[in-house]
Amino acid sequence: MQIFSTPESLKVFISKQRSQHKKIGLVPTMGALHQGHLELIRNSVSDNDITICSIYVNPTQFNDQQDLLGYPRDFDQDIKKLEQNGCHVVFCPSDEEMYPQESGLTLDFGALENVMEGLHRPGHFNGVAQVVSKLFHMTQPDKAYFGAKDWQQLVIIKQLVNDLSFPLEIVGIPIVREKDGLAMSSRNQRLTPDHRIVAAELYKALSLVKEQLQQSVGFEQAIAAGIDHCQQFPKIDLEYLEIVRSSTLNTPLVTVGSEPLSICIAASIGGIRLIDNVQIFQKPN
Ligand code: AMP
Repeated sequence: MQIFSTPESLKVFISKQRSQHKKIGLVPTMGALHQGHLELIRNSVSDNDITICSIYVNPTQFNDQQDLLGYPRDFDQDIKKLEQNGCHVVFCPSDEEMYPQESGLTLDFGALENVMEGLHRPGHFNGVAQVVSKLFHMTQPDKAYFGAKDWQQLVIIKQLVNDLSFPLEIVGIPIVREKDGLAMSSRNQRLTPDHRIVAAELYKALSLVKEQLQQSVGFEQAIAAGIDHCQQFPKIDLEYLEIVRSSTLNTPLVTVGSEPLSICIAASIGGIRLIDNVQIFQKPN
């Protein structure tokens, strides 16, 4: 496995691969890798000739400096895990390499970002789109892999690729969970043992809302049941629990047949912010 820390050195490598018509898969990450990330890597390795994993904790997508400073980092373990899973290249640039000068461009995704993460973390998706665009240019992938764990991010990246005509395919990968249902996340390792147990209740709340919808309970009542569930656990500081249309992220007011819906949650537990979602195909009325 080769490790590149500058776009210039990576560029030479990419040109060579491109001249040999090699298919390139990109898996963008912020490191502290777990089985969720590795599932993306495994998919890329099986689809492409070359898999590039970027490890970069992007400052422009954090609107909370404490969150950025406390973000888990474990480069040595990451390298071992990537090697074991057949990754070919790690790209780990510095802030100076990624942002040699302050960016003047702002990317605004309108209605797609005026809800959930975009609403609660102003500027977050501008930062995500900025860094992902840079990575696409630097790595020139045929396919790029993103997790359904960050559902809103996945929808926004697809919009970005479409709007700016990036010549690549976005592949969405289902959420990898712990045995008790907790969505794997780099942030989970920062939970205390007590908080880790409570964290599994977020998935239980999502599952409860999903069950209610499957039993044709109305949206408001289904959400109220999920909120009630969270309120039984005082350690859960719920930020939002919402049902949105999976592709447009707007709120359905009436049931509309078999349109896919996403039930999304964000909450802090002991100061650690976690997000999760489940997907549902509505039953026709
Ligand atoms: P991150 O390092 O948190 O920025 O995540 C890098 C990529 O891994 C993103 O596309 C995430 O959606 C994806 N990812 C993170 N956790 C999971 C998970 N539990 N299952 C599937 N994909 C995940």
